[in-house]
Amino acid sequence: MHKNSVIEVNKSAYQNNIDFLKKTFGKKVIFSSVVKGNAYGHGLKEFAKMAYNCGVRHFSVFDVEEAKVIFDVLGNNVTILIMGFVADDDLPWVIENQIEFFVFERYRLAKATKVAKKLNIKAIIHIEVETGMNRTGFTIPMLKKVTQFLIKEKEFLRFKGLCTHYAGAESIANYYRVSKQIEVFKKAEEIFIENGIQPEIKHTACSAASIMFPETRMDLVRIGILQFGLWPSSEVLVSYLNSKKNKKDPLQRIIKWKSEVMSVKRVKPGEFVGYGISFMAKEKMKIATVPLGYAHGYSRSLSNTGRVLVKGQFCRIIGTVNMNMLTIDVTNIDHVRKGNEVVLLGNQDETSITIASFSDFSNQLNYELLTRISKSIPRKII
Ligand SMILES: *Cc1c(COP(=O)(O)O)cnc(C)c1O
Repeated sequence: MHKNSVIEVNKSAYQNNIDFLKKTFGKKVIFSSVVKGNAYGHGLKEFAKMAYNCGVRHFSVFDVEEAKVIFDVLGNNVTILIMGFVADDDLPWVIENQIEFFVFERYRLAKATKVAKKLNIKAIIHIEVETGMNRTGFTIPMLKKVTQFLIKEKEFLRFKGLCTHYAGAESIANYYRVSKQIEVFKKAEEIFIENGIQPEIKHTACSAASIMFPETRMDLVRIGILQFGLWPSSEVLVSYLNSKKNKKDPLQRIIKWKSEVMSVKRVKPGEFVGYGISFMAKEKMKIATVPLGYAHGYSRSLSNTGRVLVKGQFCRIIGTVNMNMLTIDVTNIDHVRKGNEVVLLGNQDETSITIASFSDFSNQLNYELLTRISKSIPRKII
């Protein structure tokens, strides 16, 4: 097992976030915890158990592999919804275990029906509508046929949801595009009503849409990034705070990624540190190495720019981030020893490395940075 670093996930901070989000959306809206990408890097298995203990009963994932991880730990105590890929081979497992899934093309609709008939179990499906993202979903002209098919095969298809996904609700620049999508979704709903069939629930909102366009919440919200205490963009946070008297971020970050000092050494002025010549010491320096690198998901683009915490103080990364190691400047910190805690993300004493600042350094989105953190790093719930 990897011992170079550990990721701690803070349960009480998560409970705070869930309580806040549930209060914001109201009791009638189902809260679905989106946990694709290894629960945004937090560790799917550990995270799912913790979320369950905090009251989450609905999870949305990208594929069958992720669905199986949750099913293994939580079984039928929760609803699992696959929003993305299901291989044909996996359909029997999915349908048999009453895992719900998005259907966005005729082929999947037909195939699901066939498997459901064979197993003699209803497949629980969510029809995804193409509203303008142009990724997946049935277009408006296709919907009439879909309604007819659903009516014909109602013995084998449970029409649980009608849904769509917005193309960039986190940015005001996309306001017009998202508003258009909301209109197209309304049109889709009407087509279903006209043809005499209705879904049990409708859902469209991700984190950004749930805050920026409250009308998109409908019966269920699919919340990823917000539950981890992060805002989809600073625009969304500002827009939320503008509507409140108390200008305080209601969310708490739940992740802390920490490692330790592996060795400490002194460098003379004029010497280079690490590979090549990207960093030269201008004066006498004390440097420390940390056993983490891009192989563990610590981006190489943080070379010479990233920051970490040692003894509650910021330290620069110097030189290039290597595959398994990075070097930091500890010149101004007294008594640094092998084994001292190094925080890459999260709090140490009163100081913290936020993911936002981290992403600014590397031009990565919160999302990408988190999901790149290696799966092999142990996750601990605290
Ligand atoms: C990832 C995803 C979400 C959640 O997105 P966040 O911005 O993290 O809330 C919701 N719906 C779909 C279809 C997704 O792929």
